[in-house]
Amino acid sequence: MNKITREQIELLIELQQQEAAAAKVESELDGLPAKIAQIVSGLKEFEEAINIKKENLAELKKVYRSYDAEIQVNQGRIKKREEQLRSVTTNKEYQAILKEIDEIKKASSRIEDETIECLDKIDAAENEVKEKEKEYLVEEKEVNQQKTVFEADADSERRALNEFLAQRDGISANIDPELIKQYESIKSYARGIAIVQVKDCICMGCNMNIPPQMYNELHRENEMKTCPHCHRMLYVIQ
Ligand SMILES: [Zn+2]
Repeated sequence: MNKITREQIELLIELQQQEAAAAKVESELDGLPAKIAQIVSGLKEFEEAINIKKENLAELKKVYRSYDAEIQVNQGRIKKREEQLRSVTTNKEYQAILKEIDEIKKASSRIEDETIECLDKIDAAENEVKEKEKEYLVEEKEVNQQKTVFEADADSERRALNEFLAQRDGISANIDPELIKQYESIKSYARGIAIVQVKDCICMGCNMNIPPQMYNELHRENEMKTCPHCHRMLYVIQ
């Protein structure tokens, strides 16, 4: 068993506290890029949804233009038939042209109905795009603000981390190197926790009982003892 002093035990406990604090800050820092990416991707999705609405609007306008063109063509056709009417010689021919004109007018009137419907749809789609663009601007502002907050958090976390690490180095310089070696080795297989308190004969690392004699000896604080179950270093609070 290693001979040890109370001071060394206290330093190890402190070392572990600083390392735990540093690890916590490190994991928060690691999670930040994902948090930022998530809010940015939400905004991107919103933008894509607006683009789809804009494409639909463009499509509707295209349809409207084609209706309009068709109506123009029909007007030309009617004009041409009306001119023909002036030069026809037979009644049969006259009637045939009149019938044709009537049919073109009916077709045009159907297209006009559809044009009105199409204009209504364009109107609604334009309003929707405008609304969504307004909402987008609000959301974009919020996302940017949130990003700034996250980035400021990251800065202060980096500073805190450096402080914890500097303190850790300072503490570890005052601990017996052999003890540090043992501490690091236990840490590597004991999920990062190398030194634990024993309370009423129970190891706080694994919640198992340690032998009462060992518990008594721990109170002397003159040698480093390890848990017979989880092999972590043990200490008691007197
Ligand atoms: Zn244990």
